[in-house]
Formats: sequence, C-alpha cells, structure tokens
Amino acid sequence: MDIHVHFRDFELSYKEDAVSGTQAALAGGYVAVGDMPNTKPPIKTVELLRRKIEEFGRKTNLHIRHYFGAPPQDPSILKDALINGAYAVGEVLPEEVLDYGGDQYLEALFREAARVGIPIVMHCEDPVIINQYSGPRDFEHHNAIRGPRAELACVHNIIKLVYRYGTKVHMTHLTLPQSISMIRLSGLDITFDVTPHHMLLSQEECLARAEKPAYCKVNPPLRDETTRRELLTMFVRGEVPIVASDHAPHADWEKDRPYDEAPPGIVGLETTAPLLLTLWRRGFTDLGTVMRAIQERPAKFLGLNVGIRQGFCADLTIINTKARHRIEPERFRSKAKFSPFKGFEVDVAVAATILHGKLAYIGEGYIDETTVKTLENALQGG
Ligand SMILES: [Zn+2]
Repeated sequence: MDIHVHFRDFELSYKEDAVSGTQAALAGGYVAVGDMPNTKPPIKTVELLRRKIEEFGRKTNLHIRHYFGAPPQDPSILKDALINGAYAVGEVLPEEVLDYGGDQYLEALFREAARVGIPIVMHCEDPVIINQYSGPRDFEHHNAIRGPRAELACVHNIIKLVYRYGTKVHMTHLTLPQSISMIRLSGLDITFDVTPHHMLLSQEECLARAEKPAYCKVNPPLRDETTRRELLTMFVRGEVPIVASDHAPHADWEKDRPYDEAPPGIVGLETTAPLLLTLWRRGFTDLGTVMRAIQERPAKFLGLNVGIRQGFCADLTIINTKARHRIEPERFRSKAKFSPFKGFEVDVAVAATILHGKLAYIGEGYIDETTVKTLENALQGG
C-alpha cells in the first residue's frame, strides 16, 4: 500500500492516468494508494473532487484514497471536502503556501483542518528559504537550491503549528535524519514517510548513473551521500514508519528540458517493493521492518485492514524472493518508462497481484504456469 502517488489523469493523461497508474501499482504489488490532487485542473473544489472520485471509480477498482488540494484563501471549504470523500488535505506544496500568503495562510489552514478533523499531508520545504538562494541554477546544484535548511525550517514550523492547534499531520518524503529526530523530540503524534530514492540514491551518484540529469530532479532533492546513508540506516533500524514511492510520472520529453523547466519527480510504484525487499534478502534488515513500512502502517494510515478475514475477497501480492534481475524501466506499466534505478540489481520480483479476489497481474518470467493455474483454481468462486 502506497500512501503517496500521482496518477495525474485529466489534462495530464499523457503523463499517466488512472488506468496506467493502476497497472503500474499492480505490477509493483500495490493494491491500495493515496492519490495526490495536483492534477490539471487541481482538485481544489468539491465539484472537481466529486468528478475525480466518480471518474476514477469508472476507470479503476484499485483501493484509492483521494487527497484534496490546499484551497486558495478560505479554508472553510475543508468541511465540505471531507463530507464529499476527501481523505486528507495535501500534499501541501511549498509553492502554493507562498502563493496563498505564506505563514499566515498555513496557520489558517492548520486551524481549520483541526476544527474539521481532516488530516494534512505536508510536503515540507520552506518556500521563503528556497527563494533566498542566489547561486548557480543547474541539476548539479538542485540539492543546494532547495537545501536541507528549507526542510528543517518547515519541519520546525509545522511542529509549532501542531503544538498550537493539534492538527493531525503527516510529513511526506522527509529526507533528513535531523527532521526525523526533531519530530521524535517534539513528542507529538506526527507521522511521516521517506521514499526509496532518498534512501538509496545520493544526488551525486544519481547524476553519474542516469541517462538524463532530469531523471534525478525530484523535490525535495536527493541529498549527499552521508545524509543518504544515515537515512537508510534509520530505515534498516526500524526508525522509519512508512515508505512511500511518491510515484511522480512525466513524459520523457519533459525530462529533456533545461534545469528550471524540467518537472520534478521519479516514478516508484514498480521499483519500491523489489528494492526494499532486496534489502531484506541481502540481510540489511528484517522482513518485518520492510512489511511494516510498505504494508502495515500505510494500511493503517489509509484506513484499511491487513490480515485474513472470512467472507472477504482477497487483495494479495505474491512475491518471488529468488528472482535476481536488473530493473528495466522499458518494461514498466507506467507511462513513464524511465527511472534513475535503471540497471539496479534486485533479488525480488512481484510474481502476481490479486485484487478483489481476481488475478489482476501476472509477473511474466517470475511465476510458472502451474502456479498460475493453481491460483486461478483457488480463486474460482471468490
Ligand atoms: Zn508527491
């Protein structure tokens, strides 16, 4: 289960849509996702939210939670959004916070969200600090342009707001061990996630490997090697509650643009489970740590159940744990067939995904005919 994906659709269907996003999820072993509202048009009105839920309902039967975009100006719309199916507000992006009035806006948003009882998913980078940067602007400086200080300032600010208003907050894709320490020291019930790319790729290594430098452009940026290692260490020790992919597809030609115009984002639905389970297979961490981060806690966050229960259709992922292979983005079901993880060797593959009691994905080459037949027979009659 992945609490942070961008299925795009609508006017951005050339990047991804509900159908291709679902295919990517199933191929990656995911049966449930939380989908972000920065579509075009963005989901910031109740009317658009209802339209999205209705359209996605026709296009996919994946379990989907729909997030609601941070509303411009008056946050009193949040109650209506909640009633009409919004699962949370967010991800609240630094650029919109700045556009809508900065700290004053955030304060009003947090106050209203607490009053209404809707959680906020925060993309934590301080836009004012980002804007203060005046050095060179290119892919090599992305981690300086949106430096660690921007994340730390935002985390600090959000902790203050949660302390003041008691808002339910989730900070998504944190990149710094210090951010996690700050949350822990606050003693507040703030949840967070990290992504596989921030744990497994430094900016330097990514730029050295990737075919296009824009494949490494993601917000918040990939950090330096020391930071990346420390973040990964926290994960293998079980100190990272949730791993989310932040699956952010774009068209390949958009990644040919120069630094300032290249859209940020890395696709992750089809690489996250194999990468993390490989950490387990190679003895860096135990299976429980991985499963809690990609199944148990995301399920809790999304309000879904994990476990065997009588009388329900199965959502089930079958993993082949002896399937050493290299990541081939050309084989992705996502429309974005590129990734900085291209060529990474993994030991694990998704063999099959069962959704609502039906075989919804078969990982060719990773499951044999007999097993598929056995599965089909077992699933007959639900
Ligand atoms: Zn995102």
